[in-house]
Amino acid sequence: VVVSPYVGRFAPSPTGHLHMGSLLAATASYLEARAHSGRWLLRIEDVDRGRIEVGAADSIVNALLRFGFEWDGPVLYQSSQYSQYRAALSDLIGDGRVYPCFCSRREIALHARSGVDGVVYPGTCRLGVTKKRGAHSWRMRTEDRDYSFLDEIQGWQTQNLAKDVGDFVLLRADGCWAYQLAVVVDDAASGVTHVVRGADLLDSSPRQIALQQALGLPTVKYAHIPLLADLGGEKLSKQNKAPALQIGSEVLQLWQCLDFLGQQPPVELQSADLKNLWLWAFSAWDLAKIPKKRSVSVTLEAKNE
Ligand code: GLU
Repeated sequence: VVVSPYVGRFAPSPTGHLHMGSLLAATASYLEARAHSGRWLLRIEDVDRGRIEVGAADSIVNALLRFGFEWDGPVLYQSSQYSQYRAALSDLIGDGRVYPCFCSRREIALHARSGVDGVVYPGTCRLGVTKKRGAHSWRMRTEDRDYSFLDEIQGWQTQNLAKDVGDFVLLRADGCWAYQLAVVVDDAASGVTHVVRGADLLDSSPRQIALQQALGLPTVKYAHIPLLADLGGEKLSKQNKAPALQIGSEVLQLWQCLDFLGQQPPVELQSADLKNLWLWAFSAWDLAKIPKKRSVSVTLEAKNE
């Protein structure tokens, strides 16, 4: 029997420090890769120049080291991958899968309706009849059909790309590569087979599957873990000031992660050392125990005492 190798990854954006939500994604993707005797890669998603915070990439890498994560191979920075994105876009241009879009945000807003993830582009430039010149983005032509996939945690997902999302941007008019293209090209280039990440990206997966298909790349398997939300249901993220991870509390914070992920770590392990907590996690890990929800409400403050 030939067992295909498992390759997982953690792909944080350096927009701030590692926080509890991203630690959760790191922990789940790491443990799932180890449970499959797979490789686990670390990629810093630093394409969106406007959102990057100076020093955040180093701070994330250092935090992961402090927690005892061991990734395989060197850290990959998306900013070193532009020629690959360019090659992928050229292929898509050659195949007529993308088109230049000259619309401004304001023009789009006038005609757009809202979709699952922002506004649905009304398709103004799709026919290529525009007389405009100059700076333009490149948009993927989406198809009016259902894309379905089985998420290993959230179950079956279906999205009609044309109706729910619309033609989406791959290269922005300001020259910035879009996350959707970068993530697909990088996952394929690194041989990633399994993506474990936060459920905020569940709705992005059909776009990524469509891109994989258009580029002739293998489709990866997805597992989206619930997001941490406050008791009001609001997502805890860097943007709304998720509590920073305090140095020196790694054992407790990792224990909390395992707890949120439904793994039921024994309370005694809160006073274990990091190594033993990991050893317990390696042997106890069970993806099936993760709550099958898009978000889980927590009171981090109380637990952080
Ligand atoms: N860079 C993305 C983020 O930090 C994650 C991308 C992914 O896991 O596909 O939200």
